[in-house]
Amino acid sequence: MMNAIGIVKQMRPGDDVDAACGKCKDVRTHAIIAVNAQGKIERVQCRTCQGTHNYRNPVKETKRTAASGTRSGSTGRAGSSPVIPTGPTRVYSPQQSFQAGDQISHPTFGVGYVTEVRATKIDVKFGRETKTLIHAG
Ligand SMILES: [Zn+2]
Repeated sequence: MMNAIGIVKQMRPGDDVDAACGKCKDVRTHAIIAVNAQGKIERVQCRTCQGTHNYRNPVKETKRTAASGTRSGSTGRAGSSPVIPTGPTRVYSPQQSFQAGDQISHPTFGVGYVTEVRATKIDVKFGRETKTLIHAG
């Protein structure tokens, strides 16, 4: 578990902390009972069921860590091609020969990169769209 020092603020016994409670099966407010030398919370008491247990980071519910993810999922990166564009951008021409990963500049579609080569055709990803262009092969 990576509990990066510097992100976790200094906690002291008596402070409240959100923790996963095994009895409540949920993230509850807990009172800190014990903190180790590194300032890491060791034991907490659930304010809901009063049970004491070792502190567990509430990983599945991170409502208090607002710093991490404000990006909305508009840029669909997942599931894209494993091809990573490399090298300088080349101007597209059907007389040129291209390889997967080549970055090309097209007069109509703009800058993209080659995701697949099939004989005299190349698939080129321009932003979210993939166009099939011809090349010298
Ligand atoms: Zn509880």
